[in-house]
Amino acid sequence: MLIKKYKIKLSRINTILISHLHGDHYYGLIGLLSTLHLYGRKTVLKIFGPPGLRDIISLQLKYSETRLTYDIDFREWEPNVSSVIYEDDKMMIKTVPLEHRVSCSGYLFQEKPKSRRIRREAVEGHLTPSQVNLLKMGEDVYNEDNQLIYDAKLVTLPPYRPFSYAFCSDTRYKPSLIETLNKVDLVYHEATFMHDMLDRAQNTYHTTARQAAELARDANIGKLLLGHFSTRYRDLNPLLVEARQYFENTELAIEGEKFVVSE
Ligand SMILES: [Zn+2]
Ligand SMILES: [Zn+2]
Repeated sequence: MLIKKYKIKLSRINTILISHLHGDHYYGLIGLLSTLHLYGRKTVLKIFGPPGLRDIISLQLKYSETRLTYDIDFREWEPNVSSVIYEDDKMMIKTVPLEHRVSCSGYLFQEKPKSRRIRREAVEGHLTPSQVNLLKMGEDVYNEDNQLIYDAKLVTLPPYRPFSYAFCSDTRYKPSLIETLNKVDLVYHEATFMHDMLDRAQNTYHTTARQAAELARDANIGKLLLGHFSTRYRDLNPLLVEARQYFENTELAIEGEKFVVSE
């Protein structure tokens, strides 16, 4: 329903990452899988998640006698181990083991170094693919007679810097994340309770707004997004105020809000 509301194209979804098997984090999955089926999806869908997810989904499909129009490629990660689960020439995704009542993992998305940007307005005529590649690597382009045609310094701009984002769902305050999240540009971290409920947070394997902010400060991150608030808080502002005392650049991850990661 929210994917529809926010006008996200279903056809652009090729990978789904699940953090853990508590209902508030994946009960919507079978509904989404059914919707994709009703739309007649053909391309493979990759689903990353904890062990058990494949069995649960397979059982639901079995007893509803559903034969999906597409294949699911389940990739269950190993709990408590940080591993690279996805990599291409632009980015990689790593699991971030968390401390929750059941196996739970966040995800760290890291862009790879980017190539230089071609200033199209500075280029006369058409560039061949190999010329584009040379310029993006910062190398000058010569013709067959060894005459300079394009000076990379003049027709390209420096690359954008690579950005990173981490999604840390349900977890107790975990000090080792200070190292894992070091200098990440944008971090989503749960903040289920305020700090006056620290005991409750610890007993239920959750984090307080203050703890999340202290983690953000200690890990030297760019921006912190707080989420997963207990329903006891009708007004979320006190959570934000508490967190900002420890880490100024904090926002509430309100459904539908947009946050700029890169410039
Ligand atoms: Zn949970
Ligand atoms: Zn939860």
